[in-house]
Amino acid sequence: MSSKQPPAETGRNDFIRAMVVSDLESGKYGGRVATRFPPEPNGYLHIGHAKSICLNFGIAEEFGGTCNLRYDDTNPETEDERFADAMAEDIRWLGYEWTQKLHASDCFEQMYEWAEQMIREGKAYVDSQTLDEMRASRGTVTEPGRNSPYRDRAVEENLDLFRRMRAGEFPDGAHVLRGRADMAHPNMLMRDPLLYRIRHAHHYRTGDEWCIYPMYDYAHCLEDAIEDITHSLCTLEFRNNREVYDWVLDAVGIEHPRPEQTEFARLNLDYTVVSKRKLIQLVDGEFVDGWDDPRMPTIAGLRRRGVPPEAIRTFCDMIGVADVDGRVDYGKLEFAIRDTLNWTAPRRLCVLDPLRVVITSYPENAVEWIDAPEFPHDVGKPGSRRMPFTRELWIERADFMEEPVRKFRRLSPGVEVRLRNAYVVRCDEVVKDPATGEVVELRCTHDPDTLGANPADGRKIKGTIHWVSADHSLPCEVRLYDRLFSVPNPDDVEEGASFTDHLNPESRIVVTGARIEPAVADDPAGTRYQFERTGYFASDPVTSEPGSLVFNRIVPLRDSWAKRARVT
Ligand code: ATP
Ligand code: MG
Repeated sequence: MSSKQPPAETGRNDFIRAMVVSDLESGKYGGRVATRFPPEPNGYLHIGHAKSICLNFGIAEEFGGTCNLRYDDTNPETEDERFADAMAEDIRWLGYEWTQKLHASDCFEQMYEWAEQMIREGKAYVDSQTLDEMRASRGTVTEPGRNSPYRDRAVEENLDLFRRMRAGEFPDGAHVLRGRADMAHPNMLMRDPLLYRIRHAHHYRTGDEWCIYPMYDYAHCLEDAIEDITHSLCTLEFRNNREVYDWVLDAVGIEHPRPEQTEFARLNLDYTVVSKRKLIQLVDGEFVDGWDDPRMPTIAGLRRRGVPPEAIRTFCDMIGVADVDGRVDYGKLEFAIRDTLNWTAPRRLCVLDPLRVVITSYPENAVEWIDAPEFPHDVGKPGSRRMPFTRELWIERADFMEEPVRKFRRLSPGVEVRLRNAYVVRCDEVVKDPATGEVVELRCTHDPDTLGANPADGRKIKGTIHWVSADHSLPCEVRLYDRLFSVPNPDDVEEGASFTDHLNPESRIVVTGARIEPAVADDPAGTRYQFERTGYFASDPVTSEPGSLVFNRIVPLRDSWAKRARVT
């Protein structure tokens, strides 16, 4: 048995890890494990990328291997340094560190030399057909393709044309370099794959040095080979590209042991979209406030919303790695977030829709600083903060009903409830606005013997509600975020419709005029809390400031969508 076994306690035993274990046991790569995460810097990383990050970096960690961050920067038009930097920040935030940070563009010269070598060996040729002609001659799944009229160009002519392509003598689209594979191959991707195209575009790293750029199928496997990758992991849609991957490595003469591609299922998450192309449309169309909008499934959006990185890693463990595509219930992500925050987020009280309460039995101007635990008993963590109790308080408007419905366990006339961490109070009088009839104030009395104790005479108190001091609480804005789309699969739209038609109009509800206990005043932006009975929240790292507090709801306490799904 190899000593490089995954630690048993991770419970990770997917088919890819099983393959790594067996490769270590057989000594295929001399005991090496080398993976890479290869994003194209043309947008922000999203929760789908997190699955690939956790897999690639996780395997390297577990087996004592290496994992590179490699930018697949072979499409100059759409790529940008800003995206590349954001990706690196996101990976670090998730808790991973790369062995090396590399760029496909650093290897353009080596790739070019290999292409010339392929031409000299008769394995590649310059095709001068138009894209339409190439498409037309590719054949179909049932019919073989036809050879290009340029397929048998002499080596010298190919070399000359390819060098002139590089020198910038031709406009975009005039020629391409193709592998001379097999135009009748049952795998259509093997029908003389494109290796290089002409693109007169400025590259964010190589500038105007190149005007020919390698295609994915040519660049990716060669990058893997240059970096000495052992396990090249990618998503299932590349399954048919694997044959091209191996063919290119053979064509340039990369010897075994060499990188091998294995595909796993991409993450598709309900009620959101995980494709950079679509996320770009949401940003550019201003459907959201940028890449880090807390409703976005981007790592930057999840971070700003307050989701802890551990929760994303837990989620990736929960969904596991398989080789068949499927969709993942959004509730699983929320479960992982709650599961992390329940143990780590200190409790606070925040009243979203305040209703004034006057404790007539409590002296005016008195303040009692109650020592309130930050975690309930079952979490078993120490820590407390001080909550001011005063004569005038705010409670949640929804916690009062003048004529209570059955099973209403909160405040109503003549009824006693416990104020969380404080006294038992009874509602004696309801004050209304004479003009509108709206309840504007409750007059209550407190039982002074019930601070941290049950009523002495054994009265049963049915409910506990949250509250804050009217004088000492701080005003704040609370942003209630919900799922970005109102249907499970926004990608599945009718002809002529757009996925943006299914955006959830209630994905953000802004509550102004909420009141929070003063203990949060000095916490750093981004601090996460459980607002008791309300949900998990974090102060918004971008807009919250002392004196003008803003909180983002990370997740509600319960999954209200599961219930909705059962009803409908
Ligand atoms: P997108 O369609 O969102 O742009 P992509 O595959 O084009 O995704 P890349 O930057 O090329 O984005 O992806 C980097 C790596 O992340 C690739 O190895 C890719 O397979 C993986 N990846 C991308 N999306 C997902 C996903 N939804 N689930 C798992 N892995 C993913
Ligand atoms: Mg891609």
